[in-house]
Amino acid sequence: MFDGSATPYRTALRTGRLKPLLRLEGVCKSFSAAGREVRVLEDIDLTLHAGVMVAIVGPSGSGKSTLMNILGCLDRPSAGRYVLGGRDTRSLGSNALARLRRRHFGFVFQRYQLLPRLTVLENVEMPAAYTGLPAPQRRLRAVELLTKLGLAERLGHFANQLSGGQQQRVAIARALINDAAIILADEPTGALDTVTGRATLRTLLDLQALGRTVVLVTHDRDVAAYAERIIELRDGRIVSDAANPCRAIEPSPGVSCLSGQRKKSTRPTAMRKLVEAFDAASHALRANRLRTALTMLGIAIGAAAVVSIMAVGEGNRRHMKATIGALASNLIEFRRGSGWNDSQASAVHSLSPGDLAAVQMQPYVEAATPLTQVLMAVRYRDANADSLVMGVGDGFFKVRAISVVHGRSIRTDDIERQAQVAVIDQVARNRLFTAGEDPVGKVIIIGNVPCTVVGVTSDASQQLFAGPGPNVLLPYTTAGVRVFGRLFFDAIVVRAAPGDDGRLVERSLTRLLAYQHGAKDFFTNNMDLLARAYESSTRSISLMLSLIASIALLVGGVGVMNILLVSVTERTREIGLRMAVGARRVDIARQFLAESVIICLIGGACGVSIALLAGLAFSFLVKEWHMAFTADAFVLALGSVAVIGTVFGIVPSRRAAALDPCQALLRE
Ligand code: ADP
Ligand code: MG
Repeated sequence: MFDGSATPYRTALRTGRLKPLLRLEGVCKSFSAAGREVRVLEDIDLTLHAGVMVAIVGPSGSGKSTLMNILGCLDRPSAGRYVLGGRDTRSLGSNALARLRRRHFGFVFQRYQLLPRLTVLENVEMPAAYTGLPAPQRRLRAVELLTKLGLAERLGHFANQLSGGQQQRVAIARALINDAAIILADEPTGALDTVTGRATLRTLLDLQALGRTVVLVTHDRDVAAYAERIIELRDGRIVSDAANPCRAIEPSPGVSCLSGQRKKSTRPTAMRKLVEAFDAASHALRANRLRTALTMLGIAIGAAAVVSIMAVGEGNRRHMKATIGALASNLIEFRRGSGWNDSQASAVHSLSPGDLAAVQMQPYVEAATPLTQVLMAVRYRDANADSLVMGVGDGFFKVRAISVVHGRSIRTDDIERQAQVAVIDQVARNRLFTAGEDPVGKVIIIGNVPCTVVGVTSDASQQLFAGPGPNVLLPYTTAGVRVFGRLFFDAIVVRAAPGDDGRLVERSLTRLLAYQHGAKDFFTNNMDLLARAYESSTRSISLMLSLIASIALLVGGVGVMNILLVSVTERTREIGLRMAVGARRVDIARQFLAESVIICLIGGACGVSIALLAGLAFSFLVKEWHMAFTADAFVLALGSVAVIGTVFGIVPSRRAAALDPCQALLRE
């Protein structure tokens, strides 16, 4: 088949020292287009040895590019065998094929296929990212190659700022960055004028001189004349395969400008792969700033909603706790009977002044007051009001945090003297007295006992009474002896000393009183527990609100997914190219997942900042209480944006990874 002329390759072949580099046996390729099966390659048998330069020629549509894709492991044959370096490629999975492409092949595509958003340097470096070459070495090598190819001045340019010939040289540099042994060039001169075309061919010849195998695909006989072997395709069949007796120019070792020894590629570590993915992702995101910013905004709004609603809830809860909670906390009531509905309670007469004295003596009791209440008619001149008359101790005002706005409250000496004095609330005042009349010093008739009004409680205290009013307060001694005619109490109300656990105090006092009575004929009503219940209910309300806010976050996540799906469609060619130069599916998936996570994390961080600003604005508008930002809120918001980024990135990244490199490259 080959005549014996002087190249080292032919000598080697004759002496049998060369093993075939790649071998196609009965390879067929068919595509199904519009429901029809189109046979593009028929029964191709082909053997190539290392170090040769072959041309595949044929008219347009004869299957040259299809054949080149199969040779470059970008596509698989529909039938037949492809043996590469002694290995049958049929048994290889997509990762193994990607590895072969990465390690052994350098593609120079028909239309250069440079990525428009990367600079010349970045385009050339890109394939090396997938072999694990560290970034500085990668850069060094790319600069070296581009310099040798005469593009030293163009490193920072973008593809559309270069001429066709320059783009072609960038494409060649990219094919060489991983020290490919086999260069596959599809119509490398197709779009170039004669002079630049000839320069490109010279470069390919130099590569052969360096021991690389060059497969040159062309429809042009003159270009094919540069090869030492010409394979002619027509309608998917090889119609001739012969050595080229009149080669236009022989490769001349020594004059080559592309020399350099092959570097061993290392396996990229997991960390490096992650860094590469985030690098590529942030590059892609920066290329589309407005779109990225708007998508981030969606996430930011969701995150801001979650954080600020949690902060409002927490601020409100703290405020409530500081106001109402302070009154209710540590407050314990001991009441007659076994419960609120006990019909036998009236028969229990055991809560006595002795009990009160015993309770008051305990060190963990800050204040204790008895409470006896009866509904009675109260009169002042012609006015009459059915009031809740309460016999209380001097501690009652402290225990219930009731304030007296006019006059005085009930004092210890009133209790000792059984003084006939009363403190009335605002409702009683309005019922009994005319507007503008000062009640203090006036004598009202309670039942049929005259008492002097000494004080009036504040309006705000109204909610601290059990009933809506009118309420009239008497010293419990006066009430017991003179008005009600009984000495036992309805309840003893205790405020535990600050710092003491209300529940412990309740248990100790229960034991004390039960011991004194010989039986537990009373029940406790721990306001502290009520306060806690209130607190937990406000907490669950704010939790519910933040769940609603997280719907905004979900909507943002859907936006991210949507934009990434658009992006996959737009960047199909980029994905195809990355796969062609050796990216595995998981590398592609990782890049898109990284894009999603970056969008969500940055969006989330912006959202948190927005929420903090909102908190600042809120503190100017509302003085009574502030939004309270807790670590929980930040952890929850940032955690959920990370989860959303991952979950909503899965679909786009899977779709990107599922693309077929060959089909993807064809896409415009
Ligand atoms: P050449 O490179 O020799 O011009 P190709 O190998 O690109 O030819 O294509 C050969 C034939 O295969 C053409 O008729 C083309 O339409 C068809 N073909 C190539 N790729 C596909 C594909 N992915 N799906 C359907 N038909 C295809
Ligand atoms: Mg073609």
